[in-house]
Amino acid sequence: MLIDSHAHLVSLENLDEVLKRAKDNKIEKIVSISSDIPSTEATISLAEKNDYIFATTGVHPHSADQTNDQVLKGLDHYAKHEKVVAIGETGLDYFYMNSDKEIQINSFTEHIRLGKKHNLPIIIHVREADEDMQKILKTEPAAETPGVIHCFTGNYETAVKYLDLGYYISFSGIVTFKRSEELREAAKNIPSDKILIETDSPYLAPVPHRGKPNEPSFVKHVAETVAEVRGVPFEELAEITKANTERLFKI
Ligand SMILES: [Zn+2]
Repeated sequence: MLIDSHAHLVSLENLDEVLKRAKDNKIEKIVSISSDIPSTEATISLAEKNDYIFATTGVHPHSADQTNDQVLKGLDHYAKHEKVVAIGETGLDYFYMNSDKEIQINSFTEHIRLGKKHNLPIIIHVREADEDMQKILKTEPAAETPGVIHCFTGNYETAVKYLDLGYYISFSGIVTFKRSEELREAAKNIPSDKILIETDSPYLAPVPHRGKPNEPSFVKHVAETVAEVRGVPFEELAEITKANTERLFKI
């Protein structure tokens, strides 16, 4: 049994078929990630109808300029829903830089505040912003704000900085790409109790589906690659990532 710890289900086409294939491929639970208020509402309604789907609420760093008082009130409201298991995805993206750094940092800080208030973990997106991210997380001890660095793309040295702060590290289909040597090296060395796997569907489909729309059933390819580099059986990798995801999100 596997868990996809990060999928944007409401962005997927032919969702009924996608969810059927997830079942057929023994995907036991899916954490479905929101990027704004409308996707929060759609994701919660999906989670209400399917007991194995869990929701989050947050504003993606790409849309950080949307995080105004009214939106924050909305996130605060939805964070109380029984199927909402995390705040996010949030974070910093200095690659796309859709909003100024200051706006992104403010939005991220508000998400951390919500995580603390509602006792929910945060789902962190970070791209070309590790320095600022670590600076912020150092002032927010992970004991108070646990969370995961989702779709991790750095090397092991960078991973250690997040591990030292208490955060989980999640690997996506990028770990299956031919050129991702450094990333596989990181995946090999993450402690067993801190590693998660995800698809980030509909983006970043793993090999051998690269270039196609991604879906939760493909998380098995991420699991296969990570199991291989760690030198453990597939079943064992599935078991530890499932246990870690359940512990982090209390699902
Ligand atoms: Zn995502």
